[in-house]
Amino acid sequence: MYEEDDRDVNVLKSVLPLMSRHAAGYHPISYTVWYEYAKGQHTALHQSVDDELKRQERLSVAQTYFLYTKHLVEPAEQALMTARSGLLDLAEQVKKAVHEVDVDTAGFDTHLNEFQHDLTSAKTIEDLGGHVSTMLAETRRVSEGLGKLSTQLEQSKSEVRRLTDELHRVREDSQIDALSGLLNRRGFDRELQRLFPNAGTQDGALAVIMLDIDHFKVINDTYGHPLGDAVISVVGHLLRECVGQLGVAARYGGEEFAVLLPERPVAAAEDLAQLIRIRVEQGQIRRRKGDAPIGGVTISAGVAAWRGGEDAGSLVERADRALYASKRAGRNRVTVDAG
Ligand code: GH3
Ligand code: MG
Ligand code: MG
Repeated sequence: MYEEDDRDVNVLKSVLPLMSRHAAGYHPISYTVWYEYAKGQHTALHQSVDDELKRQERLSVAQTYFLYTKHLVEPAEQALMTARSGLLDLAEQVKKAVHEVDVDTAGFDTHLNEFQHDLTSAKTIEDLGGHVSTMLAETRRVSEGLGKLSTQLEQSKSEVRRLTDELHRVREDSQIDALSGLLNRRGFDRELQRLFPNAGTQDGALAVIMLDIDHFKVINDTYGHPLGDAVISVVGHLLRECVGQLGVAARYGGEEFAVLLPERPVAAAEDLAQLIRIRVEQGQIRRRKGDAPIGGVTISAGVAAWRGGEDAGSLVERADRALYASKRAGRNRVTVDAG
């Protein structure tokens, strides 16, 4: 894996004293929140923590979880947490309902026993009538309790169904690729539509870079699929770093990536593609800490800039063709589509 840079090490060093100063809890969620706070790049989170600390000396456990969920959890994960807390609430409600009925039926037993006793000892018809109506009221109360429980169970069944459907939907709607942390193909298509130039815009208003890891099959075959996955994740990390705010990076498929670069001349897209290529080539990917780097991980890239009148499919196809020209020419290189 890539070595952490000095800045990250300094952030790590400052986290524990910071947490201790604010009497923060020592659990992973708390570490994550304080680490991000110390890093200082997440302005919204930083602001929320500062606001909270102005109000009181320390963050409570609930506030820490709240800030974590609000600022640091992915939408899909957020839905999962909401669903989980929904289910916990439901379980609590059902438990309460069952408990109420338990107590009621226990009371009912006592009433039944009393009723039997009263029946045998009743001296008059009026006495008997009184006991019967007490018993009837008691029976009604218990059966209402049982009815409430069964409604509650019915409701929780449909609530579980609703939450499960919701989770499915969120997972399907997700536009983030879990392995690389980049946009997935669905997210890429959406961004391509969003950034695609209007008719009449100048040529070159959008550039596309397609990238593909070279001889990836050999990496999988030599070191195993999990290391292949780690390589994809590292390349994703590098892409995000190199592209930054300039454009949008996505995992297009298996070991193929794509970058959308709006409002940049094609030469800037070529430079960016070269930068990514060099960073990947120089990357030190290790199987385990202390192992020698596996080396030999390279990528090929193709660049194309939008031409007036062309549709999104044609632009991506030209970048893809340039990518395959890089492959044919020997890999670990960048080709620009001549247009
Ligand atoms: P080239 O230089 O021509 O691109 O060769 P290549 O070996 O990279 O290309 P090829 O298309 O022959 O093989 C790609 C391999 O990537 C095949 C597939 O099993 C593997 N792959 C696709 N997705 C994943 C993934 O998510 N994880 C891992 N570990 N492997 C994957
Ligand atoms: Mg490949
Ligand atoms: Mg490929």
